[in-house]
Amino acid sequence: MQTTWDTYDHRVEALRPVSPVVRELVLAPTGEHLPYRSGQYVMLDVRRPGAPERAYSLADAPRPDGRVRLLVTRYPAGPTSGWVHDGLRVGDEVSLTGPFGTMTLSPGREGPVLLLGAGSGLAPVGALAQTLVSEQPDRPVVLCFSGRTSADALDRDRLERLSRRHWQLRYLCVLTREPAAPLHGRVPAMLGDLVGRLTGWEVYVAGSEGFVRDCRASALALGAAPAMVRTEEFFADPVPRPAGETLASGGAA
Ligand SMILES: Cc1cc2nc3c(=O)[nH]c(=O)nc-3n(C[C@H](O)[C@H](O)[C@H](O)COP(=O)(O)OP(=O)(O)OC[C@H]3O[C@@H](n4cnc5c(N)ncnc54)[C@H](O)[C@@H]3O)c2cc1C
Repeated sequence: MQTTWDTYDHRVEALRPVSPVVRELVLAPTGEHLPYRSGQYVMLDVRRPGAPERAYSLADAPRPDGRVRLLVTRYPAGPTSGWVHDGLRVGDEVSLTGPFGTMTLSPGREGPVLLLGAGSGLAPVGALAQTLVSEQPDRPVVLCFSGRTSADALDRDRLERLSRRHWQLRYLCVLTREPAAPLHGRVPAMLGDLVGRLTGWEVYVAGSEGFVRDCRASALALGAAPAMVRTEEFFADPVPRPAGETLASGGAA
């Protein structure tokens, strides 16, 4: 088991709001590339006094150019996520320590895979989806995102394109606060209707504590084996957002 981790210097190459509460960061290595596996996370040091290192999941499968992408949700009065949203600029230098986490694909497994992500919990399961379609094209994969409204549907175009290119990948976007959406409701309650029995499936879940807990319970009730359900909890629940808040007022620009 790995007991020491290295630190990798990066420069912020791009920053953009991708939902009312999430900012996407693209970081380019300035030295050695961070070695990692899809599903893992890093500790981000934004090199700002008062903004401690925080864990963020890597949102893409490893790339040959070493660039990494993070999806950072603004947490209420959160010093680090607040700095990422309000202070960090293109060209700033940051460090990543890691990789950490065991929510990775197990070698030698076959059979269908269910990936569940809420909000920025999409990051690790989206990376897993990329790896599955490129390395295990025979495994059926369902990637189910949970968000509030269509404005919160992170990476939607990218995932729709990926599922059009790979027959094995089914992408579902479930919205909790948009009654007119094709899929409206809470993922844990809808899981049986969305995917049916889960006997023999591998299940990966990431997001807030409540989402992870409820999805895990639903997956087990639908027949998934406990050892086949892997989770990553981000701890904090998303920011309570006033009705009518927009991208600009969300401070994510
Ligand atoms: C393995 C892992 C992966 C993660 N990946 C991502 C990711 O990809 N994207 C992302 O946006 N976030 C991710 N997080 C959350 C992230 O690490 C920070 O917790 C978040 O950005 C808040 O940091 P902050 O310094 O802004 O605020 P903090 O001061 O840490 O927190 C602000 C508020 O959030 C709540 N909170 C934060 N941490 C906890 C906790 N441990 N327990 C209970 N409540 C808490 C509290 O209400 C607190 O007042 C991940 C967390 C873990 C553990």
